[in-house]
This record gives sequence, C-alpha cells and structure tokens, in this order.
Amino acid sequence: MKTLRFWTLSLICFIMFGIIVSTFSSSYFVTKKILVENSLEQNRVYSMKLAHMTDEVFSYMQSNLEARKSDVIKHLNDPKTVTNILQQLNISGENFNSLSVINDQGIAIATTPNIGIVGSKISSFGVKEAFARKEAFISKPYYAQTGRLLILITTPLFGDSGEYLGMLNGTVYLEEDNFIRDILAEHYSQDGSYVYVVDRDGTLIYHPNKTRIGESVESNLVVQKLLEEKSGALQLDNTLGTNFLAGYTYIEKSKWGVVSQTPYTSALKPLSGIMLTIFIFSLPFIIIFLVSAFYVSTKLASPLRKLAINTLRDVDDQEEVIDVPTWYFEAKQLTMTIENYRKRQRETVESMKEISVTDPLTGLKNRRYADILFGKLFDQQTNFSIIMLDIDHFKQVNDKYGHIAGDDVLKFISIILKDLCSEQGECIRLGGEEFLVLLSKKDIQAAYILGEHIRMTIENSVPPIQTKLTVSLGVGEYKCGETQTQFMNRIDLALYEAKANGRNNTVIAKLE
Ligand code: GH3
Ligand code: MG
Ligand code: MG
Repeated sequence: MKTLRFWTLSLICFIMFGIIVSTFSSSYFVTKKILVENSLEQNRVYSMKLAHMTDEVFSYMQSNLEARKSDVIKHLNDPKTVTNILQQLNISGENFNSLSVINDQGIAIATTPNIGIVGSKISSFGVKEAFARKEAFISKPYYAQTGRLLILITTPLFGDSGEYLGMLNGTVYLEEDNFIRDILAEHYSQDGSYVYVVDRDGTLIYHPNKTRIGESVESNLVVQKLLEEKSGALQLDNTLGTNFLAGYTYIEKSKWGVVSQTPYTSALKPLSGIMLTIFIFSLPFIIIFLVSAFYVSTKLASPLRKLAINTLRDVDDQEEVIDVPTWYFEAKQLTMTIENYRKRQRETVESMKEISVTDPLTGLKNRRYADILFGKLFDQQTNFSIIMLDIDHFKQVNDKYGHIAGDDVLKFISIILKDLCSEQGECIRLGGEEFLVLLSKKDIQAAYILGEHIRMTIENSVPPIQTKLTVSLGVGEYKCGETQTQFMNRIDLALYEAKANGRNNTVIAKLE
C-alpha cells in the first residue's frame, strides 16, 4: 500500500510538472511572439531608413541636374561644352550611370559617358514621357534603345521666354552597378534577410538576385500594400512560397516601395537558445524545489508514519507518551487523542485485571490470583510458606444468623488477615470460608507463629455475630522440587488434622 509521503510527493511532482509545462509553454509562445514582433519592427524601421536614404539620393540627383540646367541652356549650341558640363555633373553626382542632353527635336546632343547615341533621335519610353510631360520627374523602369533596363531622372530645359528647348537626363542602369545597389546590397544578410525595391507597377527595380530585376511581383501581399501607398510590416508568404516577416515603406518622390524581409524561420532561430537558457536558469530552482518538496513531504508524513508504526505494536509495548514530532495541529491532536485513548485503555485493562483477581465480597485477592502467583513461584522454585485458614463451624453461623451475617463474618476475618499479614505477604480468599496467606520470605516457624497469632486474635476478637469465633489453620513451607498439587495436599492434610484435633489450633504440614 502506498504511503502518505508517496501521495504528497506525487501531488507535489504533479503540480510542479504542471507549473513547469505551463511556464515553459507560455515562455515559448511569448518569446516567439516577441521575436516575430521584433523582427517585423526591425524590418519596418529598416525599410523606412533605406527608403529615406534612397529618397535623399534622388533629391540630391535631381538638385544636381537643376543646378547645372542653366549652364546647359546657355551652351546648348555648343555640344562640346555641354558634354564637359555633363562630365562635371557625373563626377560630382556620381550616382548617375549616364547623363545626356536631348534637344527639342528628340536628338541627343551630348552624353557622358559616350554611349554612341549622340546625333540620334531618341524615342525610348522615358524620353517620350519627358517630352509629353515637360517637367522634372523620375521615370518608371524601361528598356532603352541600348537594351538596358533603366530609370530616367529628367528635368526640362526652357529658354528665357519659356520656349521648350529639350531635356537634361540622368539615368540609372538597374541591372548594373548603381547607387541603389550601393545602398541596398550590403544589407543582404547571412540569415536569409534581404531588401528589394519595387516601382509603382510592382516591378522589381532592385533585388539581390539580379536576374529577377524587371520581374513583376504585383501579386505579392507586401507589394499590394505598397501599390496602395502604404507603409508598415506584416508576415507573408513571398512569391516563391517562403514565409517572411517583412517591413515595407513607400517612397513618395519616386513612388517606389522598399521591402526589408527576414525568413520566419531565421527570426525564430534564437528561440531554442532562449528556451535552453530559461531551462538552465530554472534548473537550480526546480532542483531546490524538488528537494524541498521531498523534505517537506517526509516531514509532513513523519508524525503520521510514526503514529501508524507505534499503534501497530502490542498494547503492552506502547509507551504512554508517544515520541512523535507534532509540528502541526492535526498531528498533535491525533497524537493526543491516541495517547488519551491508550491511557484509558491501559486503565481499563488494569482495572479489569484487578477485578479479575479480587474477591468482591472481602476485597482480598481471589483463587485466580493465587493460581497465577503459585504458577510464578513454582516456576522460579523459590522458597515460600503458606497459611491455610478455615472458619470453624461456619455453616452454623449461616444457619443461625443468616447469610448476610455470614458475609459480615467473612469480611471481619478478612480485615483481621489484612491487618496482621498484608505487610508480610498476600491475603487470599480461596473460596467459601477458606483463606490463604502467602509468605514469600518466611520459613515454617515464622509461618506457624503468624498462624497462631491470627488464630488467637480471631478467638479474642468480638465478631459481628457477638459470639466466639474460631478458626483452624494448616501451615507449610514449600519444599524445592515439590509440585503444586503435592504441596497443597500437604497443607490440606494439616488443616484436616487441625479440624480433627478439635479445631481452633494450628498444625504444621508434615514433609512426606
Ligand atoms: P468445619 O468446621 O468442618 O469447617 O464446618 P463448616 O460448617 O465451617 O464447614 P462446611 O464446609 O460444612 O460449611 C461451609 C459453609 O460455608 C457452607 C456454606 O453455606 C458457607 N458459605 C460458603 N460460602 C459462603 C459465603 O460466601 N457466604 C456465606 N454467608 N456463607 C458461605
Ligand atoms: Mg471449609
Ligand atoms: Mg469451615
């Protein structure tokens, strides 16, 4: 059968297991949520920062074009000087892949570097748009006559009287090294995070994988948000089906969108390490708690365990005061109850024992007691003497004065026996009007003297019936090796002899 300690320990372990599981699972989910939120926020801030940088570069490029516009207009008829201006612009601007001036006829009059289009009519998408709009803008990406995918940063040229003279263009070749790549390429990270840029149509302008530039990713959830001119962060599956945590920012000036994204699995990589750290940090507490639980459950169960073991013992073996550490109320109460119960039980047993060996009429010990005592004495083979006493003609007392008076006489004799013998031996009523005095430290002479003393005392006393009362006595000393029957027979014979001698005398039992 399982012990209380087992059950308390099981309960504590069960509760602890529950606490550990709930703590670890909540830590797991909270940490995961924090990691995802952090990554989303990081990517959002990052995309914002990159968008800001890109925007600034564009502004810078546009202001560079604006600054040299008047020089170009002044020397429009001098292609060589215009080319010089463009070269200076290219050096100071650095961000353009090429620069060109196209006149109002659509003919390129100067370029840098020399891309072989001077003198040709330019009818590319961007130039056409610039002709149509006659304002400063950044074009959508398009394939130029040279076969390059590019964007055009253009500003119109107007004469003093407002006549349209052509345009000053800067280009950025999207598939080659350019300033966007300079800004964004370094942000390609080992954990699979990367940045990409889409234009207002959802076409990739920049992507770390160059082959994807020009590809339309319109269906992408983030791109859809950017097309709605929104900025923010979200978790999504990208065009290739990988789950990403993406931050995105819409750029007002160019109407582009910058996306910074981290694979979901990479963002959660620290999770296992964090969980391990939490476990390692909790381990000492778990161990301390378990050891304490073991100690407390042992302490808790120990009083009851001791009580249980103690009460299993025989009544006679049980101590009155139970040595149990009762450091809590229930154990103390239980111990006290058991102690009280035991005390009463012992008292009851004692009084029952006393009753079972006491003669109710005279209060002397009875025959059962004599048998127990004899058993011990005969076992030990110790020396002792006895006096057997029988009231003379007691039947007549009963007949003449009645049984109640007879009983009074029996009590009267008992009192005399107690007075004379209780200090020297045990006084026993064997039954009827027969008494026995057991003297453990007396030889036959002393027993005889005491017997005679008893006899004479009774003879000279006034009994309740007011007439003279005598007793006959047989005395004997136990002879080593004798059986109880042999010894008692000798005493009986002595008493019989005393009766035969005319009563009221003491006879010493003869040795056979
Ligand atoms: P003897 O001198 O030979 O001993 O004669 P006796 O009459 O004393 O002996 P007997 O054995 O003939 O009678 C004993 C009487 O004791 C018989 C019985 O009525 C009486 N007796 C025995 N027990 C009690 C008792 O408890 N109370 C009373 N009142 N009488 C008792
Ligand atoms: Mg008798
Ligand atoms: Mg008698």
